Amino acid sequence: MNKLLTAEQKNTLDINEIFFSIQGESTLAGLPCIFIRLSYCNLRCSWCDTAYAFKPGTVLTFDQIRQKIRKYPSGLVEITGGEPLLQENVYGLIDLLLQENYQVLIETGGQMDISRVPSAARLIMDVKCPSSGESDRNDAANLKRLRPGDELKFVLSDRRDYEFACSVLEEKQINPKHNPVLFSTVFNRLKYEDLAAWILADGLEVRLQIQLHKIIWHPEMKGV
Ligand code: SF4
Repeated sequence: MNKLLTAEQKNTLDINEIFFSIQGESTLAGLPCIFIRLSYCNLRCSWCDTAYAFKPGTVLTFDQIRQKIRKYPSGLVEITGGEPLLQENVYGLIDLLLQENYQVLIETGGQMDISRVPSAARLIMDVKCPSSGESDRNDAANLKRLRPGDELKFVLSDRRDYEFACSVLEEKQINPKHNPVLFSTVFNRLKYEDLAAWILADGLEVRLQIQLHKIIWHPEMKGV
């Protein structure tokens, strides 16, 4: 891993998987989307559903990645992980995809400095909540680095996580009109109806986010 992170071959990335599916975790949920999942993560969230991305995958050149994604009839690409901002060459890929007029989403855990992500790409940035076991790894400065249109996501496991998320929104004065806020649930841990009731009771301007791919397909299915 260190070798890859420090001395990557030019124009290559370690890829876990590339697939075409339905966007499920942003305000663009429901749209067809090409996913590029990068290998490795420097967090270990207690409820992580993509631990298979922690290990090395396949090193592909940018040209090989382009050939793979061109097969799919969509102009929307999400770069995810693992943690996609761990690999230095991700910025080159983002630039390339933007030059080719793809709409680019970057899903990041919030522990990496986001300031190098081009503003033409849209960030969907997690703020880790207490039940993840990784909330002390949030880079608090990232909340000031968000650009208009970037989205903020909280994955909630219980009421404590919900209250934590509410306190972050209030203390950091997040404006959901500038940065849409997504409240998602840890699958099968927090009931959608409980979260819906809390959001309605508090009159929050947040979006209850359902992981669509886990509803459409089997929750354990990879590549969707
Ligand atoms: S940041 Fe994402 S990939 Fe990394 S451990 Fe947490 S949930 Fe898993």
